[in-house]
Amino acid sequence: MRPECRRRLLAWFDKSQRELPWRQTRDPYRVWVSEIMCQQTQVATVIPYYLRWMERFPTLPDLARASEEEVLLQWQGLGYYRRGRMLRTGAQQIHQQGWPASALEWRSVAGVGPYTAAAIASICLGEPVAVVDGNVERVYARFMGDSTPGESLQRPAAAWAQAWIDPSRPGDWNQALMELGALICRPQQPQCSQCPLASECRAKTEGRIDQLPVPKTRRPTVELRLLTLVPVFGAELGVELISEGSWWKGLYQFPTAKSRPVAIQGPTLALLPRVRHQVTHHKLAFESELIQMAHRDSSLFWFPSDQACPWPLPVPQQKILAAARDFLNSHSPTR
Ligand code: SF4
Repeated sequence: MRPECRRRLLAWFDKSQRELPWRQTRDPYRVWVSEIMCQQTQVATVIPYYLRWMERFPTLPDLARASEEEVLLQWQGLGYYRRGRMLRTGAQQIHQQGWPASALEWRSVAGVGPYTAAAIASICLGEPVAVVDGNVERVYARFMGDSTPGESLQRPAAAWAQAWIDPSRPGDWNQALMELGALICRPQQPQCSQCPLASECRAKTEGRIDQLPVPKTRRPTVELRLLTLVPVFGAELGVELISEGSWWKGLYQFPTAKSRPVAIQGPTLALLPRVRHQVTHHKLAFESELIQMAHRDSSLFWFPSDQACPWPLPVPQQKILAAARDFLNSHSPTR
């Protein structure tokens, strides 16, 4: 890459970057929260969560003092809940030990890997460490015409991004490459006519854009059928705490298992519509039944069926709750 190409990229970023609520700040708390939320989640989805989060936990001490349940309630619907739990643990750590002063120190914070540490250190501390995500890998593979397949692309992409990082604007350099990948050098139909790197792009010159990057091998999909029983007693519904498993640990659910949960006994009031949900390479299908309970089981947490569940629920459980409510409303004796 020639220096003027790098200048063009930064000039393009200055002019064309999206206005995002966490841009124009170097506050490490705000940047850290935004980086964690944006992992595996689209920016448009993150924005309302980020804004609500900053209202509820405006400073690091606010987050450090919050209960895990409050944090998961704010995270509800964003998925990959471990991220929310780790943010809270990391906040407690920083509250006790002080703010990290380098990318290396950031890596000792709970839930912060090399990517996030580099992003925060480059934006907030001006440390010249390159950040490589899927967007940067794609820009690199096309710009350099590199056919290295799948996971192996990370290393040469990181070396390239590090070699060309602008030491006077490392945070902007990292964000400019990622923004270029997100807006212009998109996976499908890249907008090469608007690209500040077009004059030196090998994939464009060689007519190989649609062949690069060489795709990763996908993990085979695993299909899983789950049975959910929604306990009803009077005008209340019962949920249980999810204590096992990494997806939703710490959240709540209607009793759910691969086979019929034995603790929930009673006549079936209704079969609810099937709910489908995908987590990583797992395709889940929830078959749900509304169960009339003979007693108010004390091992469950009960809440009025016409009010919001006060405990955080994973997205498929929120859909099951909505279906249960629809049924109960349409069969209410007062209608
Ligand atoms: S010229 Fe096209 S393929 Fe090359 S980096 Fe720019 S957008 Fe990507």
